[in-house]
Amino acid sequence: MKRDYYEVLGVGRSADKDEIKKAYRKLALKYHPDKNPDNKDAEEHFKEVNEAYEVLSNDDKRRRYDQFGHAGVGSSAASSGGQPGAGYGDINDIFSAFNDMFGGGGGGRRGGGSPFEDMFGGGFSGGGRRSRASAGIHGTDLKIRLKLTLEEIAKGVEKTLKIKKQIACQECGGSGSKSGKAETCQTCHGTGEVRQASKTMFGQFVNIAACPTCGGEGQVVKDRCTSCYGEGIKQGEVTVKINVPAGVQDGNYLTLRGQGNAGPRGGVSGDLIVVLEEIPHELFNRSGDDIIYDLSVGFPDLVMGTKIDVPTLEGHIKLTIPPATQPNTMLRISGKGIGHLKGGGFGDQYVRVNVFVPKDVSGKDRELLKELKKSSGICPVTSDSEHEKSIFEKAKDIFS
Ligand SMILES: [Zn+2]
Ligand SMILES: [Zn+2]
Repeated sequence: MKRDYYEVLGVGRSADKDEIKKAYRKLALKYHPDKNPDNKDAEEHFKEVNEAYEVLSNDDKRRRYDQFGHAGVGSSAASSGGQPGAGYGDINDIFSAFNDMFGGGGGGRRGGGSPFEDMFGGGFSGGGRRSRASAGIHGTDLKIRLKLTLEEIAKGVEKTLKIKKQIACQECGGSGSKSGKAETCQTCHGTGEVRQASKTMFGQFVNIAACPTCGGEGQVVKDRCTSCYGEGIKQGEVTVKINVPAGVQDGNYLTLRGQGNAGPRGGVSGDLIVVLEEIPHELFNRSGDDIIYDLSVGFPDLVMGTKIDVPTLEGHIKLTIPPATQPNTMLRISGKGIGHLKGGGFGDQYVRVNVFVPKDVSGKDRELLKELKKSSGICPVTSDSEHEKSIFEKAKDIFS
């Protein structure tokens, strides 16, 4: 199980940004890999702390975390393993920041740390990232849309999709080199970056830039593969399995780490971002994890009560309409709604009962209605027959 992010950082739910930052700094320094070489435990803690900070330090992500928790927690291995490419989906990109930190291939912070980090960060975040990630160019992220029916969302579903993406060249094993070998770049000695010191009125800055010789890869290919022109990647098609947990909403997305485009010449793959789309259901309206079904019932049945066949997301059931059911009554069918995203049961199905009013009545039905109308127990207000007649005439005009 993943730990609560607030718990990881040891702060309260109402902690402000400064508090969170302070707590993060303390823990990040404590568990930093440079301080704990070959300590798996510390490494896991370090990852966990960074992950928690990336979420809680970002207003938007923090709000979503507060709302959804560790969405799709059952499939997340970020805290217990975190191997890139393991193919886990995390809702709403909560964990994408994690990739940035550990070379899983996230956003646009590549090509060396920012000057700000180098100046004020004590170098720990940058150092951690660089020592772990292999130098190289990251593959790009890939975004796809996935349509889901309400039935699929209710229970969760495993989807198998074919997607086109850049994959490693088979000819050269993704190295880009015919002989499968690449040489360490002599300019940067394999680090992929060059440092330049510059003096300004504020003091000395160390500027880090991508190595111009190898383009930041740390390696140079001498005999280029002719199949991929030395890129190490080619357009291909792969089959991916996507586990969609129950209870997702339209617009949610799953991030499958390391399942995006392959990185050139052995670089880390990007992420596959699956944007979820809910297909509107023809019978049900969704309201959170509940679903609403509109049912029209004839007046006699509302008065006397009956049993009616009602569709649910999993077949029909017999619903009891109690005697004297009023229009707009909501009848609840427990547990026939959508599975909760956080687990632990299902929402309910509500049946909104409406009166069925025929648009047209034939001669005999009209006679029956007139008979019915004579009863003071059925019609609360008795009107005079002249007035009644004129209303019927008007109604006739409307519908003819
Ligand atoms: Zn190749
Ligand atoms: Zn280089």
